[in-house]
Amino acid sequence: MTVEVLRLGHRPARDQRLTSHVALTARAFGADRVHVSGGEDSGPIETVESIVERFGGEFTAEREPSPKKLVKDWNGDVVHLTMYGLPVQDVVEEDGLTHSEADDVLVAVGSRKVHGWIYDEASYNVAVTSQPHSEVAALAVFLHMYFDGSELDLEHPGGEIEVVPSGQGKKTREPE
Ligand code: SAM
Repeated sequence: MTVEVLRLGHRPARDQRLTSHVALTARAFGADRVHVSGGEDSGPIETVESIVERFGGEFTAEREPSPKKLVKDWNGDVVHLTMYGLPVQDVVEEDGLTHSEADDVLVAVGSRKVHGWIYDEASYNVAVTSQPHSEVAALAVFLHMYFDGSELDLEHPGGEIEVVPSGQGKKTREPE
């Protein structure tokens, strides 16, 4: 089973940081891949690649020139995160949209303006509160609920360094 994230409408001049944060949040919270659609820009993809090299895991990032096709051809559930959707807590509980019960999942998040087609093509339009906030926050909360917290213990083998959890200061080590 795979969990992938589609970043819609990336704007190279404005969204560098936010799109990188979408990708890094996807990785840290247990997704396998991010697809970046919108303006052509290798920046966020290079950021992800350097983090994976340093901190490990098998997360991948790629540019997506045809997001509509990706969504239409997706063999599983498509979850579009939007403040106008159904409450995440209801969808997870009532529809069984969890890691243990669901098929492959593609989670779509927007940037400033989201085109109407994604609302129609999504299997679920899901809200993390009905208030406007951020794609990064919405993605983190959705994945946390989808994985039922198990993503917090995820390991990312194969990196150059790993963090040694510590109550004081910053400790890292080279993995054995
Ligand atoms: N005005 C935009 C719209 O029409 O949806 C909202 C843009 S918001 C800055 C960027 C993205 O954050 C949205 O496309 C959505 O994916 C996500 N987002 C923001 N608030 C959300 C919420 N309450 N629930 C779920 N996703 C949210």
